[in-house]
Amino acid sequence: MKIKTRFAPSPTGYLHVGGARTALYSWLYARHKQGTFVLRIEDTDPERSTSEAIEAIMDGMNWLNLDWDEGPYYQSKRLERYNSVIETMLDVGTAYRCYCSKQRLENLRATQMAKGEKPRYDGNCHDSHAHHTTDEPHVVRFRNPCKGSVIFNDQIRGSIEFSNQELDDLIIRRTDGSPTYNFCVIVDDWDMGITHVIRGEDHINNTPRQINLLKAIGAQVIPVYAHVPMILADDGKKLSKRHGAVGIMQYRDEGYLPEALLNYLVRLGWSHGNQEIFSILDMKNLFTLDAVNKSASTFNTEKLLWLNHHYINNLPSKYVATHLQWHIKQQNIDTHTGPELAKLVKLLGKRCKTLKEMAYSSRYFYEEFNEYDADASKKHLRPISRKSLELVRDKLATLISWTAENIHYVIQSTADELNVGIGKVGMPLRVAVTGTGKSPGLDVTIEVIGRSRSVARIDKALAFIAKGETHV
Ligand code: GLU
Repeated sequence: MKIKTRFAPSPTGYLHVGGARTALYSWLYARHKQGTFVLRIEDTDPERSTSEAIEAIMDGMNWLNLDWDEGPYYQSKRLERYNSVIETMLDVGTAYRCYCSKQRLENLRATQMAKGEKPRYDGNCHDSHAHHTTDEPHVVRFRNPCKGSVIFNDQIRGSIEFSNQELDDLIIRRTDGSPTYNFCVIVDDWDMGITHVIRGEDHINNTPRQINLLKAIGAQVIPVYAHVPMILADDGKKLSKRHGAVGIMQYRDEGYLPEALLNYLVRLGWSHGNQEIFSILDMKNLFTLDAVNKSASTFNTEKLLWLNHHYINNLPSKYVATHLQWHIKQQNIDTHTGPELAKLVKLLGKRCKTLKEMAYSSRYFYEEFNEYDADASKKHLRPISRKSLELVRDKLATLISWTAENIHYVIQSTADELNVGIGKVGMPLRVAVTGTGKSPGLDVTIEVIGRSRSVARIDKALAFIAKGETHV
């Protein structure tokens, strides 16, 4: 059997961590089984669905590279289809019109509650409508079986049973003619030939209703269900906006690579031995539903940062540079006159956990700075450093081959000539060329900054020392 999964978000907000993980698991399962992955937008609630949210969901999917083979299908464009299935159900009697007034239902509910019973529809319109016409306001209800139970084998949680007595005669079409949520889902799952429904555990109570509905409309194949447990924040509470668990695109904004986030999400509730690093190919090869945890997982930003650092340093630097480029643009750094970004990835990778941080540290490779870090200049740009800076400047200006190795030699030989430690030469030089007291290895940094820029900056630092000013 060809496997078909779907991700079916309701477009009421951005794609958040929980949604992205559900999408990833559905996508991986399809990819693992050489199946098909469908994207379906569940936008039948016009009050809550927005086109911005649809866009945000697609942006998130695209950024994560979770490609879909079919869709996006929009439920809002399938209303005719849902209504035609409802008409057939009315014809064959698996659904019925209910003319009960709001008042009657409210009274019923109050009486049941007063008796300590679970409120449910009492089947008043179950059988005869002789005294009603279809023009009168009514809803359509599903004739749920009243005996027996629904049992399904959840691929993550095992066998689950619901008694039919617990399930109401669900409204499948409202008085205004609009089909309801659970009904649209089952018609879609049926029409689209979905074999595996992988979704959040908040949908578990919908599953028995959906199975009954699917059977009633004659679906030959009932999908296999897998309900993925929740994600908790590190304080043990359900992950929410309060914890900064906002949209997936915010992770891009904060400087994460999609590979790091995917690796993080796949491990957030799934494991394969004690392996932590999974390439996309590993995930596709290894992902199974039975290795998904039954219990909730806890979000851990430290681990996500650790993975991001790993991928910044282990993916091809040219590729990482394509993502860095976005941050460089955000920070308005003009890279036209400086080194290739891939070089910076190699140079700054060890020191940066995020690309945002890396872009921030990139500026002095491309642009002149107008100020030195106050502490660093106070400590290192002093008259005592003039001699070493002048010597280094002349040697760098005439260095035959501009390599990190030769630059290192220049710094070392200057220190030797002046009979001082290498730091006495290196630190003033570092502040002169980077404006700060911290940078990656000075030789490689100067190599990447380039000769003319480095020499000009040393001249500027010498002038700064000469003037004894705090501004360049
Ligand atoms: N639209 C539902 C949601 O966003 C998902 C429904 C499903 O997967 O069956 O929670």
